[in-house]
Amino acid sequence: MANKNLCPRCGSHDIVEYETTIECMKCHFEFKKENLADLDDEDILSVQEMKDILDELGLNQDSDKLTKMKEIFDIEDSFNQKKHKN
Ligand SMILES: [Zn+2]
Repeated sequence: MANKNLCPRCGSHDIVEYETTIECMKCHFEFKKENLADLDDEDILSVQEMKDILDELGLNQDSDKLTKMKEIFDIEDSFNQKKHKN
């Protein structure tokens, strides 16, 4: 089981804890806390990597599938937190 006080990617202690995620200040990846609890380090995808997979699959053109995949990955909240541009 991963330690949520360590970055699962680079092992840095320099992390910032948010409500549902942590962000590593060293490699700047963001990880969902529930993934840290449930998965081994090597199995943990960062939020950015999950988003890249959705982009890669071209799901941005298919809102139904995109919504479904977001549910599977459970990353809707993380996306919304980042959307404070306007
Ligand atoms: Zn890191």
